[in-house]
Amino acid sequence: METLKIGDVTITSIIERDGPWRKPADMFPAYDPAVGEKHLADLDPVVFDQASGKMVITYQTFVVKTPKHTVLIDTCTGEDKGHPPPMDFPKQPWLDNFKKAGLSFESITHVFCTHLHIDHTGWNTMLRNGRWVPTFPNAKYIFHKGEYTHWEATTKEGKNPPGTVWTNNCRPIVEAGQALLVDDTYQLDDTFTLTPTPGHSPCHCCVNIRSKGQEAIVTGDMMHHALQCREPEWSTIFDTDPKQAAASRRTFLSSVAGTGKFVLPIHFPSPTTGRIEADGNRFKYNFVR
Ligand SMILES: [Zn+2]
Repeated sequence: METLKIGDVTITSIIERDGPWRKPADMFPAYDPAVGEKHLADLDPVVFDQASGKMVITYQTFVVKTPKHTVLIDTCTGEDKGHPPPMDFPKQPWLDNFKKAGLSFESITHVFCTHLHIDHTGWNTMLRNGRWVPTFPNAKYIFHKGEYTHWEATTKEGKNPPGTVWTNNCRPIVEAGQALLVDDTYQLDDTFTLTPTPGHSPCHCCVNIRSKGQEAIVTGDMMHHALQCREPEWSTIFDTDPKQAAASRRTFLSSVAGTGKFVLPIHFPSPTTGRIEADGNRFKYNFVR
């Protein structure tokens, strides 16, 4: 995509990492090779690398510029987090792309995390003199209260090994007084509202962006790959509640199919933006070029 215009709002992608990543059978416990291969042959070629047999998965941040605010949605994996390979992505592409978009750390007014996973909270903080501090000094960071509380509790109970995401990427924001803990009804301004889509994580939310009669929806990790439009019941190994994730996906896909609304899933490769079309009991993801 690079930049998508929705009325008075622009949405720009900042990529941290892209390319072939995982085999479908390793990602979807319900994967059926015969069914999957048939779908993959019909899908847009950008989503699958035939040579390696791996799905193409991108890690990116969306910068949403409304008339009043500059918001980052999801902040990739960040730097100095000590994640073991393959999650130790080099930091430079994200920083270079952030700069290329004409942004400075000071210019960000808000950060919103669709959910609090390793690859959606990384740049929330940076290591300075041995301490994790907010990367964006003037930003309010918007976390869903239920999501924050869940990861705080599981980390404290030791049930979230290694448990560094909440400790390093979220708690320092609250301690710095820069967090806004919100519920499903939160509205940043008349262009920016939330829709709860639980399942991938307990309080995962999509972001609706509306301006001048147009609408785009940043869907976070409600789906990871276009295969899940063909098979909405294929949840991933990363979902907290796979059944609920599938239900959220089907509800969402049904609600946007045929509406012309733009859909922006964080992990879909460039051009990322697409529109949903119903196809019997399934859906099609049509990239917008
Ligand atoms: Zn993710």
